Amino acid sequence: MPLSADLQEAQSVLQQVFGYPSFRGLQGEVIEQVIGGQDALVLMPTGAGKSLCYQVPAIVRQRRGQGVTVVVSPLIALMHDQVGALEEVGVRAAFLNSTLDFEATKRIERELLAGELTLLYAAPERITNPRFQALLDSLHERDKLGLFAIDEAHCVSQWGHDFREDYLQLSLLHERYPHVPRLALTATADQHTRADMVERLQLQDAQLFISSFDRPNIRYRVVEKKDPRAQFLRFLYDEHREGGAQDAGIVYCGSRKKVDETAEWLQQQGIQALPYHAGLDQGLRAKNQDRFLREEGLVMVATIAFGMGIDKPDVRFVAHLDLPKNIEGYYQETGRAGRDGEAANAWMAYGLADVVQQRRMIDESPAHEEFKRIQRGKLDALLALAESTDCRRARLLNYFGEDTGPQYRCQNCDNCLLPPALWDATEPARMALSCIYRFQKERGQRFGAGHLIDVLRGKATDKTRQHRHQELSTWGIGKMVSETQWRAVLRQLIALGAIEVEAEYQTLTLGEAAKPVLRGEQTVRLREGSGEGRVSKTRKTA
Ligand code: ADP
Ligand code: ZN
Repeated sequence: MPLSADLQEAQSVLQQVFGYPSFRGLQGEVIEQVIGGQDALVLMPTGAGKSLCYQVPAIVRQRRGQGVTVVVSPLIALMHDQVGALEEVGVRAAFLNSTLDFEATKRIERELLAGELTLLYAAPERITNPRFQALLDSLHERDKLGLFAIDEAHCVSQWGHDFREDYLQLSLLHERYPHVPRLALTATADQHTRADMVERLQLQDAQLFISSFDRPNIRYRVVEKKDPRAQFLRFLYDEHREGGAQDAGIVYCGSRKKVDETAEWLQQQGIQALPYHAGLDQGLRAKNQDRFLREEGLVMVATIAFGMGIDKPDVRFVAHLDLPKNIEGYYQETGRAGRDGEAANAWMAYGLADVVQQRRMIDESPAHEEFKRIQRGKLDALLALAESTDCRRARLLNYFGEDTGPQYRCQNCDNCLLPPALWDATEPARMALSCIYRFQKERGQRFGAGHLIDVLRGKATDKTRQHRHQELSTWGIGKMVSETQWRAVLRQLIALGAIEVEAEYQTLTLGEAAKPVLRGEQTVRLREGSGEGRVSKTRKTA
């Protein structure tokens, strides 16, 4: 099929302005759609090249006298970088954000109105600013508003983890300027978030472009959390240090306190580690981020506050010492590894306490019930990924709506590289559930995981004596199952929704999915061992 005139022009811009020979993946299709004046919603993983999807149309539309492209972005650092890079290749671009003084703002506004700019980057809160709206109105009246690009569009969704209030106002663009095409872009979107973006940004007529979310160079691995620091250190030494040289990597922790403690501990181990979280002084945060980007072989220990918009190509590993909130978060965070396409590791330590903790955070949050229900569903999907005994990549891709087929094995995740030995834990699972049932029914009581395991294993403690649990019919019925195995059984049952964790005292109750397990209709299969030290080094195999 011959190329359309639009695509031909886009390709010559790509080559002449940016110096790239050809479009990647869906870029060409997206760009053609947008140059043609249609709306589009683009879902592409980090590093796939979303920026060109609006930069090329911006240049083409400006050349055709159709006006300026306004890019809405929440990331000030990214605006600076992109404007700098565009100016370097001779494209007139500018940004308007809170870092500018009055004079600079005035100058940019003048250039904008004079039609001198091809791209204008603006923070989302700008859109509701009356002064900015007057500028847009003026351009609009003269048909000089060429395109709106909404970057990080998932920020409009309250279900996601990056929700920004200001994004809700972006529907205004469509309401005020219905004929200006819009392009919304994001690297993260499950079904819920996607539906939310369409609704809130009024993108019902937009064509949806979804690239494969696969990052084949990232090796996914989940280990059972026992002594997480020692486990992490071993991972670091085995795979990310060679001859005293340390790879760059990111270690995510669940709290600010843990970030501080972990960074300090790593420093004591002789590893160059820096902390990053929203509680640190702004200057220190900026300095640490800067060092991480510029210097080699630093380990950034951070909360999820670190990462969005950070483009460091040679991050060799992303480690999670705590469970993220959901698969979107996990995928986005791990996606910061290996952006250069070279082998990289996504390593996570995960244990029963993580599950309990995340449940509890949802239960205790002041959000309304519907919100919590969705958050629980998302957590369940992540637990299923963490507990899975089959290909992790398949789970991830399926979650994002990509069908891999039942036979798919990526050969670059722990489960594919060394398929875990499985044991049938259906009987122990039923024992655990009936023991919880006895607590509830016979005693009207609830207990946490530790006590439940003691009762199942027939281990007398002050607490079992105090409650006379030796008299329960389930006392000691699970002696043959080790404590570690019991924890795995309970994690799996929580992941299945057969056990629920009550928020305040973290006690266990039977959940919706308990029945089929109790009736023996649902089998429970678990991995033997913890899944550690079994996968050979990335360097050697990738
Ligand atoms: P994203 O926003 O999707 O994370 P970027 O737009 O930052 O990705 O692009 C990632 C990198 O890929 C950039 O360095 C960009 O210049 C490069 N890139 C994008 N598209 C192409 C292409 N068609 N050919 C070559 N390099 C490209
Ligand atoms: Zn796999």
